[in-house]
Amino acid sequence: MHSTIPVPLPELDEATKKLLQAQHLTPVLIALFDSNDQLLWANPSFRKSFGLGENDYPTWYDMMVQSQRQGIGTAIQSDEIERWLTSALSRRGKLPYRGIEGDLHDGRWIYMTETVCPDGSMLCIGSDITHLRHDERLLRQERDQAMRAALTDPLTGLSNRGHITSLLEKHIQLVQQSPHTCGLVLLDLDHFKRVNDNYGHEAGDTVLRHFAQLLPQVLRREDCHGRMGGEEFLLLLPNVTAASLCNCVQRLIDILPLHRPLEDFPDFFYTSSAGVTLLGPDDTVPTAMRRVDSALYQAKDQGRNRLVFV
Ligand code: GH3
Ligand code: MG
Ligand code: MG
Repeated sequence: MHSTIPVPLPELDEATKKLLQAQHLTPVLIALFDSNDQLLWANPSFRKSFGLGENDYPTWYDMMVQSQRQGIGTAIQSDEIERWLTSALSRRGKLPYRGIEGDLHDGRWIYMTETVCPDGSMLCIGSDITHLRHDERLLRQERDQAMRAALTDPLTGLSNRGHITSLLEKHIQLVQQSPHTCGLVLLDLDHFKRVNDNYGHEAGDTVLRHFAQLLPQVLRREDCHGRMGGEEFLLLLPNVTAASLCNCVQRLIDILPLHRPLEDFPDFFYTSSAGVTLLGPDDTVPTAMRRVDSALYQAKDQGRNRLVFV
């Protein structure tokens, strides 16, 4: 039932007058309900949104029923308004403060905060966030792009050091938890400084990108590969034996010199050395990295363009 309660206006100071003026102009929905959920006060935006006349002071319940009938105000999704109201009332005003989102019949999406005051009255403030819903998609896209960028080496597009290291950590956990095997490979291009010195830094970059593009051609989809930095790359090959792991890495080492990555220098080719190991249940990232690094060192020491398995 709608009832009319004239609001007595006390003497107002300047600031309060300005505040009331502002609430009159703002598109923000503002209303105050008493402890029985009867409207005490609402600004024009609120009244307009819920189809209330200037002198209407309904209960929240009546306001919902009325506005639903008129196709105005809160768009109630449920066919059964009574059920919806019962459910809404079971949550309404139970917390000192809450914020809820909902759409209005006119298409606006509103974020409504409900502040319960010590005397039981409730201040409701609703902001139009329709545009945020649209922007949310863009925001999610931007977030995904930022996340991707944080995991990716910009030069090669491979996983960066942080990401491939976190994958290594995951595989170590898997090895500890299950009969999981995983090969770890550290590759370092041979005499890469000479590439830069002889052909220029740009050419060096081209070679790094070439190597990055070649890796997935040799590896399986489940294998992980990343750039550790410089001309060092890390591979994780799950579900391998020592033999299949070494075969795979040897294949990579063997095909490298067959490629001619620098158009301007058709004779140029490059090679790589590799340290190879299998992850063990007692490994940590540092122990696994130390082992594979020492294998790589041995491969370099033995003349490069080869792998050493430890
Ligand atoms: P080794 O066979 O012992 O590995 O010799 P190396 O010359 O490859 O090793 P060294 O570590 O002395 O040199 C690595 C070089 O890689 C030096 C550095 O200028 C170059 N480098 C590191 N990052 C990049 C990069 O992003 N682009 C280019 N073009 N060069 C890079
Ligand atoms: Mg190096
Ligand atoms: Mg090198």
